[in-house]
Amino acid sequence: MLSFEDIRNSFRGRIELGESMARHMTFRIGGSADIYLEPNDKEDALALFTFLAEEKMPYVLIGNGSNVLIADEGIRAAVVNLEAGFNYFRFVDGEIIAGAGVKLAKFVDFCINNRCGGAEMLAGIPGTLGGAIIMNAGAYGGEISDYITKVDLIRGGKLLSINKEEGAFAYRTSGLVNDIVLEATFRFPEGLPEPMKVKRRELLIKRNASQPVNWPNAGSIFKNPPDDYAARLIEECGLKGRRVGGAQISELHANFIINVDNASANDVVELMVIAREAVIEKFNVRLEPEIKLIGFSEETISWVNR
Ligand SMILES: Cc1cc2nc3c(=O)[nH]c(=O)nc-3n(C[C@H](O)[C@H](O)[C@H](O)COP(=O)(O)OP(=O)(O)OC[C@H]3O[C@@H](n4cnc5c(N)ncnc54)[C@H](O)[C@@H]3O)c2cc1C
Repeated sequence: MLSFEDIRNSFRGRIELGESMARHMTFRIGGSADIYLEPNDKEDALALFTFLAEEKMPYVLIGNGSNVLIADEGIRAAVVNLEAGFNYFRFVDGEIIAGAGVKLAKFVDFCINNRCGGAEMLAGIPGTLGGAIIMNAGAYGGEISDYITKVDLIRGGKLLSINKEEGAFAYRTSGLVNDIVLEATFRFPEGLPEPMKVKRRELLIKRNASQPVNWPNAGSIFKNPPDDYAARLIEECGLKGRRVGGAQISELHANFIINVDNASANDVVELMVIAREAVIEKFNVRLEPEIKLIGFSEETISWVNR
């Protein structure tokens, strides 16, 4: 049986027991994690993940928790967060090198200040670089992978650098979903700071007008099906405003579920099933969840994806 001291001695970073996950989630939902770990740097992360593999201890990565729903029962695994140790960026020889823990809003600021054009559309996405790379986050016609040249990660217990092609980036997914992303390198075309700032402001205004940003949420619940919008399909099923417990399908944007009154994860799951089944019945379209469900039983996960 592993002791706290065994884990403590395996790496140099922060370690907490029974950490509440709700406070790390933009949904403000979720039980606690058995063990919560924050490695300090690449070597520390490698030591930690090597230790977890040797001890056959399951782990889950979280970034800013803006694309996940954590079960009410919490997570019976180690939760690893890179925000503290990987919160850096550098501009070297025309390229930006940034740690997986950097928030996208800060990343966009840094790009603008260094005359790197094209990242402005990511400004309103409340995630970290690591979470964005894993699911190839994007908005308004652009994706995080557009200007990536290299990703540094841990795969199979080794530190590796892979190029963009090896990342197999596609709509809201990548070939890196089983890896631990530590850092990425980007080469952007030159941009002028003032027009980029204007563009960023316009897109943020547009986003704030169309999304329920004043309520805790996890962004789009479902991926858009080919040539259509999940929000349109859910709205046409008459589900805007539908409530289960403290969770509600947003009146403003039907592909957002908002936490209006201490919602449980089960409330959200029930609403997801209601929306999905209504869309299957009316349009014969199977919506695929965009948010990641963590800590749930296999039964619940297959219920949501049935
Ligand atoms: C209001 C709102 C608006 C949003 N708008 C958009 C949008 O326009 N476009 C869009 O694409 N998304 C959007 N999202 C969703 C979300 O912000 C993005 O998907 C974001 O990139 C997730 O990053 P995160 O750090 O929060 O990841 P998390 O939610 O913490 O994690 C997401 C997944 O990535 C994994 N992960 C996290 N970090 C790492 C790492 N370093 N290495 C390996 N795996 C990792 C996790 O295990 C999990 O599976 C929105 C969310 C909200 C709340």
